[in-house]
Amino acid sequence: MVSDTSPLQPRLEIRNLVRSFGGRRVVDDVSLSIMPGQVTCLLGPSGCGKSTTLRMIAGIEKQNAGSIWADGELVCDGVFRVPPEGRATGLMFQDFALFPHLSVAGNVAYGLSGRASKTRGRVEQLLERVGMLAHIDRYPHELSGGEQQRVALARALAPRPKIMLMDEPFSGLDDRLRDDIRDETLDVLKAEGTAVLLVTHEPGEAMRMADEIALMRDGKIVQMGAPYNIYNTPVDKEAAGFFSDIN
Ligand code: ADP
Ligand code: MG
Repeated sequence: MVSDTSPLQPRLEIRNLVRSFGGRRVVDDVSLSIMPGQVTCLLGPSGCGKSTTLRMIAGIEKQNAGSIWADGELVCDGVFRVPPEGRATGLMFQDFALFPHLSVAGNVAYGLSGRASKTRGRVEQLLERVGMLAHIDRYPHELSGGEQQRVALARALAPRPKIMLMDEPFSGLDDRLRDDIRDETLDVLKAEGTAVLLVTHEPGEAMRMADEIALMRDGKIVQMGAPYNIYNTPVDKEAAGFFSDIN
């Protein structure tokens, strides 16, 4: 099937997604869409259902109801289901560690198919993009946390995902480093035209990174819009309170 990469069509679209655990709806009728090159932040307090939503999009968690389209293709609905590796999605998690026994080059090459010489060229290109080419033959334990994160980004970008799903990938980094890495990460993803769904519980991070914020609470998206609008016109007192402690 030829995928439609039209810039006018959402890269990711989810409709009426539901997931229950033990009779409780932890994701309750969530819908959103993301255009190419757009960053949407799924923002909300711990336990509101952000990671579960992301995992359903990645295909590593089954939904109870709802449909998902990735890069113009239906990847799951009530009966039909494409496995995780068949979806146009890349994943970055906070604890998505590098393989310790593989070099930087080996980590990035993991998952890339094709001839070895071709792979090497693509690995070098990716490492150049994240500023890690000089470290290509090092091993993870020889790198700082920020450097490891850059390599993880290069690895996530290697199969050219049309959609990048990021679950609090910057939480483990200290403040100053985090600012640099997240700005650089977004620059790289925007340059590739990737649609990004970034999960965070930090309003400051969403304000800084998002084109659009989807504010989530108790499994529902309670407000959606540009950061400026969400910040200035919170939907209710609870939303206003959530944003009041931005530093
Ligand atoms: P968030 O990422 O916003 O912190 P999660 O999506 O991880 O929230 O979890 C939402 C809710 O669903 C939480 O109350 C969590 O305890 C519950 N939950 C998540 N996964 C499971 C599971 N596999 N079994 C039972 N409950 C779960
Ligand atoms: Mg989570």
